[in-house]
Amino acid sequence: MRVLLNEEQLHAGVERLAVEIDRYYGKERPLTLVAVMTGSIVLFADLIRRLSMPQRVGVIGASSYRGGTKPGELTVDANMLFDVKGREVLLVDDIFDTGQTLSRLVAELQQQGAVSVKTAVLLHKHRQHEVSLRPDFVGFEIPDDFVVGYGLDYRDLYRNLPYLAVLTDQEIAATDRGEVATIVSRDSHE
Ligand code: 5GP
Ligand code: MG
Ligand code: MG
Repeated sequence: MRVLLNEEQLHAGVERLAVEIDRYYGKERPLTLVAVMTGSIVLFADLIRRLSMPQRVGVIGASSYRGGTKPGELTVDANMLFDVKGREVLLVDDIFDTGQTLSRLVAELQQQGAVSVKTAVLLHKHRQHEVSLRPDFVGFEIPDDFVVGYGLDYRDLYRNLPYLAVLTDQEIAATDRGEVATIVSRDSHE
């Protein structure tokens, strides 16, 4: 496991995102923040506490990886989300990869009557995107490697790591066999 962004770098990135979002929306009007489950949970908890405006906070489900490192069919689950009609919405996701997920979710929320739908992501992968949508707020540009930690999983593991790390092919194979890759110790990533 190779650390790409440590805790300190991640928190600085979230702070930058919060400053930009605050500047764009201002402090007065309520904003509806929607977390894309499950990868955005850690980012979301850190981000919403740094924003200044009144907030409505909800979640929406989207999954496309279904266990592997290559995207599969995308399923959206909006059953947990309250009515967003007439609301200004900011969708928050962990990473913008092909762009299929956010593109689909923006369309879904517009269809539900949101007056505006913007997107914020912690990570933006440097690769050929498959959609015309680009995220409005981005924490970090990263290379096209498979990353885990700070909310992002591989086979539902590693979301709790406080840093963002690249899994080696051997670690991916080991996880596929049901093993857990060695976690980087606190000392070596600080
Ligand atoms: P997109 O629809 O933009 O291709 O992919 C977005 C979703 O795919 C993200 O919300 C995330 O769940 C997953 N994803 C994309 N790249 C990575 C990655 O490098 N690591 C992990 N763990 N998930 C990823
Ligand atoms: Mg996701
Ligand atoms: Mg995943």
